[in-house]
Amino acid sequence: MNERRFLLNCPVDLITPNDALEKVEEAVRADINFHIITINPEMIMNAQNNSQFLNIINNSQMNIPDGIGIKIAFKLRNVVCENIRGVDFARRLILYANENNLPIAFLGAKEDVINKACEKFKQDYPNLNIVYKRNGYFDNDDEIISEIKSANPKILLVGLGSPRQEEIIYKLKNNLQGCIMIGVGGSFDVLSGTVKEAPKVYRKFGLEWLYRTFCQPERIRRIIPALPLFLLKCIIEK
Ligand code: UDP
Repeated sequence: MNERRFLLNCPVDLITPNDALEKVEEAVRADINFHIITINPEMIMNAQNNSQFLNIINNSQMNIPDGIGIKIAFKLRNVVCENIRGVDFARRLILYANENNLPIAFLGAKEDVINKACEKFKQDYPNLNIVYKRNGYFDNDDEIISEIKSANPKILLVGLGSPRQEEIIYKLKNNLQGCIMIGVGGSFDVLSGTVKEAPKVYRKFGLEWLYRTFCQPERIRRIIPALPLFLLKCIIEK
């Protein structure tokens, strides 16, 4: 399974986690910049009214499907789509960096969260070469871009929420060489242990969003109306 399909003008790569990692390995070998987006219905809906974001989504190197909404949208077209959770793929990239001694950088989340996450990474992955870490609360993008450029990572995880994380990665593309870059949303909160991961049963049925909404009820405003509207638009498009 490795096919590119479009939902509401946004490309989505139907790919398994193993194949996605293989593509990452190819990019590392070729020493090219490689932007990965973990795409979900909220992002696709946002891109409908944000041409700059739509352009970023269309110019990334791989958009992996993250979220039950994407899976349902493809099911409506009789297309099989495997969900790849952003946080799981982030873990795989960290493991890959550790095993291959690739310099890695982390940008995003609150100061105590990113520090806690890095402490955990160092414990779990003793060879991990962290060349840069910074919290995600800053105003001057240029300063951060220049710091990351100096650190020269080969893997960069950015957790600022969307579309901010994709926008800064887009800017970074012109400043880095041979770097795998991925927006990881709230993954640092989970990886640091600050936010509890959804229990297995929720994950099995693709209902993490429901669990996260229980834990953070304010998220309901983001999901509704984005998810139903997304599915409705996908049905109309079909
Ligand atoms: N965040 C940040 N800087 C900001 C706003 C948010 O670093 O200016 C972080 C926030 O601390 C959280 C993540 O971005 O760790 C966003 O998480 P959210 O749950 O909104 O993202 P999702 O996983 O839904 O994409």
